[in-house]
Amino acid sequence: MALAPRPCPACASRTTPAGCELPEMMFGLGERFDYLTCADCASLFIREVPDDLAAYYSAPYYSLEVDPEVVLGRPGVKQLVALLGRSTLFGSGRVSRTARVVPVRQLRTLVTLLESVRLAGLPGGRDTRVLDVGCGAGALVFALGLAGMRSVTGVDPFLAADRTLSTGAPVLRRTVDDLDGSFDLVMLHHSLEHVPDPGATLEAVARRLSPDGRVLVRMPTVSSAAYERYGHDWIQLDPPRHLTLFSRAGMETLARSTGFAVEAVADDSSSFQFWGSEQVRRGTSLMAPDSHFVNPSGSAFTRALLRAWDREADELNRAGRGDQAAWVLRPVAAG
Ligand SMILES: [Zn+2]
Repeated sequence: MALAPRPCPACASRTTPAGCELPEMMFGLGERFDYLTCADCASLFIREVPDDLAAYYSAPYYSLEVDPEVVLGRPGVKQLVALLGRSTLFGSGRVSRTARVVPVRQLRTLVTLLESVRLAGLPGGRDTRVLDVGCGAGALVFALGLAGMRSVTGVDPFLAADRTLSTGAPVLRRTVDDLDGSFDLVMLHHSLEHVPDPGATLEAVARRLSPDGRVLVRMPTVSSAAYERYGHDWIQLDPPRHLTLFSRAGMETLARSTGFAVEAVADDSSSFQFWGSEQVRRGTSLMAPDSHFVNPSGSAFTRALLRAWDREADELNRAGRGDQAAWVLRPVAAG
């Protein structure tokens, strides 16, 4: 007899979930993993969290491999990031709207990140105490420093070692549980779907949050047109690294049960949901030599198609049907 499955990490339901088997498709390792769909909130979660999770984050896992000082600190790039950051966080946002139409994936990603920070708000301006949980090598921590933010910290348990960036920001090899201090904005950019117990992580975040602080959670969601269209070929399933793929309802429930109210939701999906999923459908892993991610100049997809997918992503975002979103949470006073 099979063991009873664990409760849903989003809504805690123990109602018998439906199972499926999903292949690892970032590196094309050939391993398959059992996932369950919650019968109550429709979130998807891995049946058993692998004991050796760190093995799946070894180089070249992209967010850990790329040194922000090298990529964003280069002459010219550094000034552009500073300008973009200041415009998006503190200015009219005109520069970031212009940057959005430049067909460079990394630039668009940075604009999306900065716009989500603006959405969450910086109550203390440049002195707002910001914590980035699951920061990878610290690209956003570095970019916020270049934009003039004076108190930014990053933590990530999969880092090789602690480090201080040239902006003065510490980037620490640890989880939020092992951190002291108080923060006005705690951000989890595509990290909550990676943690074994997202409820415990949000509770740890709550302990580090100032009384009128905000939490910014960005992550993929199964409540999306892309998951409906591509099913098990949807690129953001990313087994086994994505341990929980939340439904929108599941995220609402988890926020409430950990002492938060959802203040805002803004979809920020991109053409990645289409070209990434099309590649999975063809059996091409994300890091394969002929992947659009690895070799965009030799892409299997035409520029016209990629542009059409960009427009489709924008439409889905406006309709609240994108495959990823930013949630802004505010703590609800106990009692
Ligand atoms: Zn559930």
